[in-house]
Amino acid sequence: MIQAEIKSLLREDISILIKISNSGKHYLCDCGEASLLTVKEIQSVSAIFISHTHIDHFSNFDGIFRHQIGSGEKIVICGPKNIHHQIEARLKSYTWNLIDENAIEYEIREIVSKEEINIYKIHPPHWNLEFVKTQNFLFEDEYVNVDFAILDHKTDSVAYLFKEKDTITFNENASGFRKGKWISELKTAFENNDEDQEIEIEGTACKAADLFYLLTRNLGYRLGVIMDHAVDEENYKKVKAVFNEADLVYIESFYKDSDQEFAKLNYHSFASASGKIMKDCQVKETVPIHFSRRYTESDIIEIETVFYQAFREN
Ligand SMILES: [Zn+2]
Ligand SMILES: [Zn+2]
Repeated sequence: MIQAEIKSLLREDISILIKISNSGKHYLCDCGEASLLTVKEIQSVSAIFISHTHIDHFSNFDGIFRHQIGSGEKIVICGPKNIHHQIEARLKSYTWNLIDENAIEYEIREIVSKEEINIYKIHPPHWNLEFVKTQNFLFEDEYVNVDFAILDHKTDSVAYLFKEKDTITFNENASGFRKGKWISELKTAFENNDEDQEIEIEGTACKAADLFYLLTRNLGYRLGVIMDHAVDEENYKKVKAVFNEADLVYIESFYKDSDQEFAKLNYHSFASASGKIMKDCQVKETVPIHFSRRYTESDIIEIETVFYQAFREN
């Protein structure tokens, strides 16, 4: 199961921590102030996902790496075009003469387009960028695959979808056979769609496809984070392509409907537009996030009310 926790207090800049149950690993979406983020949580972050580098999403990056340096870990940072130069500039702005070169390694993944991800490495004490390769996918580890959409916010703003891997369970009650290593062989054949593979059970060879009824595929949970974006058709086409029928999506709803002229001016979204696009995507659950700092608590209640009305409207 994937869970998300908003780590920013009201009127603080946004930061969302994503936790995977049964794993000590966390992922961090954007680096806002995040008073609720603990040092222990920061030290468990294995990958950082930056939507864009407006100051309200990136100002606390220093606070994050402050607690990561010295871990000796390799930490991935994904972000939009030029993210590698911006991270290099931030790291180079401090003095590192007492830090060992193995204190940490960042692997930066610059999202140029859907099919073009440039990989760079950077480590102390000189923090010089080293280009590694270009690849056509963003992020995969043992728990999740991460898909994304590059949205327009007058600059690229990357929206991320964390897809927990599907699991396959064995229906023990339906099987009259004794358990054995054939179960894992069968699961592998099922995953690879290898219907003709021979599976040997208690000395008898069986065709894999004849045993597939013993297995069930459980779809992995899908959790999305959509930060700053303009209300426009091109953006919505991309959002629908990636976030359709997701289990839970957090989405920027910066303005009240009555301030939608500012939303247009600043390439942001507003309450009913964000609620409606989530309804059009048929997501199961959704949460509006990242409100203008000039709003009071009652303004925010108004945003939430209008957002959920648009989301639930028939
Ligand atoms: Zn922004
Ligand atoms: Zn913002």
